[in-house]
Amino acid sequence: MNDDNIKKLGLYIHIPFCRQKCLYCDFFSYSNFDDAIFNKYFSYIIKELEIRLKDFDSTNQIINTIYIGGGTPSLIKADIYKLFFDRLFNIIDKNNIVEMTLELNPESVNKDLLDYICSFSFSRISLGIQTINEKSLNEINRIAKLNNIDNALDIINASTIKNISVDFIHSLPYNTIGQTKKDISYVLEKIDIKHLSLYFLEMDDTNIIKKKWDALILNENDSINDFLYTLNYIYSLGFKRYEISNFCTDDIYKSKHNLHYWDMDDYIGLGLSACGCYNHIRYTNTSNINKYFHAIDNNNFEQYIEKLDSKIRKSEFIFLSLRKSEGINIVQYNKVFNEDFYNVYSNVIEKYKKYLIIRNDYISLEDKSMLQSNDIISSFFI
Ligand code: SF4
Repeated sequence: MNDDNIKKLGLYIHIPFCRQKCLYCDFFSYSNFDDAIFNKYFSYIIKELEIRLKDFDSTNQIINTIYIGGGTPSLIKADIYKLFFDRLFNIIDKNNIVEMTLELNPESVNKDLLDYICSFSFSRISLGIQTINEKSLNEINRIAKLNNIDNALDIINASTIKNISVDFIHSLPYNTIGQTKKDISYVLEKIDIKHLSLYFLEMDDTNIIKKKWDALILNENDSINDFLYTLNYIYSLGFKRYEISNFCTDDIYKSKHNLHYWDMDDYIGLGLSACGCYNHIRYTNTSNINKYFHAIDNNNFEQYIEKLDSKIRKSEFIFLSLRKSEGINIVQYNKVFNEDFYNVYSNVIEKYKKYLIIRNDYISLEDKSMLQSNDIISSFFI
């Protein structure tokens, strides 16, 4: 079969364990764990994969990316990962994998795990630093402090891993103007990174901590100006933006797994509270560990299901496409949804044309407009 006819899928594996809860984080995680739990959890991940793969046709669908996220995947020892990957690659073909990302938190980066990960040619790591400002790190309850960050950067620098991404968060409490630039330059002095993700601190306005932090965070004007200043700094380093929050030095370092999400490809999510999406159905697994084990044992998933009708899929196509720098592929939209994009959305395009770049069958957002993207994107949802 022609390679173009083979559908490529992403595989996401959720590791729902963290030593300590960061105050800004609303991801689900358990703080009680040991090696026995990790081994048991991975054995259920394998069982879940075997069950879910029954919905796929391996003659025209292959898994080509793996993303192990959390939580804190770096909490788990290399030996346990080795057992897990030996089993995983008995089920899925290792030769099809083009990228496998492991998320690391600085306090749990260790040489054994990194050496093991480096044994796969397709490995990529994503290190969550967020900031190097100790006062901020304390305020947000990050377990990693600057000494942990330094130690992690030293271990990474001494390893053979090349495909490295680092996460930063802008506008954290106690971060002043210029802090994110300092954070990025600090990391770059120590390791060579090919990719970075830069997020705005986002929390629900009703969150009590958010209310407290409002007094400790840059005001909106300063925050936007500093974000733009940081963007210019990132560009001056040779990174290009390919998604609202993601930058790479070269196309080969774009996150291939995350592109599956942004391109609306199917993906399988495994583990507690993991999401997956295939056959126009999105599911979210239970976040209760006992219910999860019980559900897998009974081959009866405890999960929330959402059917993606054409209206939802159109909205998501536009939303996800406008997050990417390349924007909406008009030819693809017309083909997938069997309607003319310009006919349907002419009013919105007219209203927001000063924020849009329209060229060669693509419509994208101006770089600066990405900061107000929510308003613009939501107006497409008619
Ligand atoms: S380590 Fe990551 S997943 Fe865990 S609480 Fe902090 S931000 Fe959330």
